[in-house]
Amino acid sequence: MAKGSLGMGVTNSGLVTPAHAAPLPQGAAQDSVLKLVTDELEDKGFVLANVDKLVNWARTGSLWPMTFGLACCAVEMIHAGCSRYDMDRFGVVFRPSPRQSDVMIVAGTLTNKMAPALRRVYDQMAEPRWVISMGSCANGGGYYHYSYSVVRGCDRVVPVDVYVPGCPPTAEALLYGILQLQKKIRRTGSILR
Ligand code: SF4
Repeated sequence: MAKGSLGMGVTNSGLVTPAHAAPLPQGAAQDSVLKLVTDELEDKGFVLANVDKLVNWARTGSLWPMTFGLACCAVEMIHAGCSRYDMDRFGVVFRPSPRQSDVMIVAGTLTNKMAPALRRVYDQMAEPRWVISMGSCANGGGYYHYSYSVVRGCDRVVPVDVYVPGCPPTAEALLYGILQLQKKIRRTGSILR
């Protein structure tokens, strides 16, 4: 196919690549996208793309989590935010305010007393928003499942998109959960949620 023609396709990762190309590592894929876009711009002066794919690509590349550290799992979440795991490369940057966030990571034991605060923070986040439940306690009460004071899963209070199992899940597991959420957003494939 001639250079500059629309021989591009959108991969499962949401990136635009040559239709005939084999899957590339993420960095190489992004370089290839940049080259295609630059060539297209030089040749025609404009670029064609599917708006919904483009929007979802931008969304998945800038997931900003609202941290909701409730117990020991929060320590692993903090690990995940440190330089060793470099979540910035996925566009994941922790925010201290629900107004600036589109993902809530519920990390720890949710008590009855804390549940209204959790819901209030969730309600303060702008749409579209997603929730990751991190660890056995957030997933279903964990060790404290039969406690009088613990909510048996944060999905009783907020809608959960991804559950990360473990007690606590490792930082790598949380990272994997975030990547799964990115996949889910791309798969949904619509602008409206
Ligand atoms: S799942 Fe385990 S590590 Fe996480 S908050 Fe509960 S008891 Fe702590």
